[in-house]
Amino acid sequence: MRARTVAGLVLVAALMGVLPGAAEAARLDGFELRGRAGSLGQLSRTVLDDGAAYVSAPRLATLLKGSWTTKGRTATLIVGTRRAQFVRDQARVVVAGRSVALESPARVGATGWLIPEEFLSKGLGLLAPGVTAVAFAGETKKSVAKTVKASITLEELRYRSYPSFTRVVVETGGALAYVVVSSREEIRVRLPRLVLAGARNEEVLDGLVKAIRLDPVGGDAVLRVVLESTVGDVKTSSLQDPFRLVLDIYRQRDAAGREPSQSAMEPLRLIVLDAGHGGHDPGATGPSGAMEKDIVLDVTKRVARLLEEGLGVKVALTRSTDVFVPLRERTNFANKQRADLFVSIHGNAHPRAVSEGVEVYFLSSEASDTDARQVAAIENGVIQLESPASRPKGDLLRSILFDLAQSEFQQESSVMAETVLDSMTTSLTLVPRGVKQAGFYVLGGAAMPAILIEIGFLTNPKEEKKLATAEYRQAVARAIYTGLAEYKRRHDQRVRTAETLPLKAERAR
Ligand SMILES: [Zn+2]
Repeated sequence: MRARTVAGLVLVAALMGVLPGAAEAARLDGFELRGRAGSLGQLSRTVLDDGAAYVSAPRLATLLKGSWTTKGRTATLIVGTRRAQFVRDQARVVVAGRSVALESPARVGATGWLIPEEFLSKGLGLLAPGVTAVAFAGETKKSVAKTVKASITLEELRYRSYPSFTRVVVETGGALAYVVVSSREEIRVRLPRLVLAGARNEEVLDGLVKAIRLDPVGGDAVLRVVLESTVGDVKTSSLQDPFRLVLDIYRQRDAAGREPSQSAMEPLRLIVLDAGHGGHDPGATGPSGAMEKDIVLDVTKRVARLLEEGLGVKVALTRSTDVFVPLRERTNFANKQRADLFVSIHGNAHPRAVSEGVEVYFLSSEASDTDARQVAAIENGVIQLESPASRPKGDLLRSILFDLAQSEFQQESSVMAETVLDSMTTSLTLVPRGVKQAGFYVLGGAAMPAILIEIGFLTNPKEEKKLATAEYRQAVARAIYTGLAEYKRRHDQRVRTAETLPLKAERAR
């Protein structure tokens, strides 16, 4: 691979985990396994192109007269009553209950699961006492060392639209090399050895990126980011745990050199209201059958009307009918519209029927208390109702944090949460349950101050009854409106103050 610059074409090569010269150390050709009664057979050695040496896991199991079973990312080698548990792409193995650290991870190559040869010296004795592995140089034809290219699996392709950039993330099962070629129309990234089950195509249409495509080409994959307008910088980075390639495509700065998003100090114009749940996801259900999805949609529409009439701001809804909207799409919608605020409206549930009152949340990786964590877990559970294609893989909270656009808005979000909670507890004469923090997936990708309001407990028969009446829902809507109006007043005041300051405040990036 080479790096060069041609007019109109930028080529960047990055290498991770692909090192030349792997054959140098390959003088050993295999191992002979020896038990108490003599030879158990030979095991050939496989050197991958990063230089790490492996043996075939199923072959090892056969020689040990054991079994090899795989389940998703984990695999178990059982010999007699003892077992060794491997996790794909992890360099740690649990052998007979003991954790053993290896230098290389277990992998899946073209011929199946491979385990680091180091396991033979560190783990074999624990798994099969009395069995040893003796290295030998190849005299037999069977044991010729071969270089196998390990394929890398795609875990997830995702994107987020932010006001100043669009982020594309390719999450993979192993370290990935990449080559980026940009042109006016598209950014092309070659991903060697990334194996795809099929082509992927996602429409983005955020004014910057039109679509992202991922196609298999030979044994590799090619990511194409099709552009809608001229881009500014493109930043690529390769990260670990999990392995992922992150592509940030920035909007072009305007004539004054500002990024289009640096409008933190502008009056509020657009608020996105998000009625929770919908469609096949009813949300919480009360003892008399009231459904969260219906109650919150009604309240949301009432808040929208009040905001438009009372504040003259634009309001956009993530849903205005009884439809299912995946969580990620809710904030993507707000980001694409460049909304100034994101407010998600929900109804609460608690195993104790007497729980009552209003809670307002903003996003944090650390839940403020166990109940807050519980509420986030329930609301995040909606993910299970999404189609497998749009559902985020792996640890949900981890995904939230990767895409944590919210950290820079955390302060503003907490101010908005407090203002809205104050207004609600005062005008509804409710027990204040406080502003809380938790890892709500729906708030994770919002590129603006964002809060989640739990307007009451559907699981409390008293509150369910109140929420079933239009009068109370209007009162709730008015209380939310009053809180947001107060937040806007203070925000716009700060904008006016900022405008009278000398231009010195202009930030250079
Ligand atoms: Zn909910």
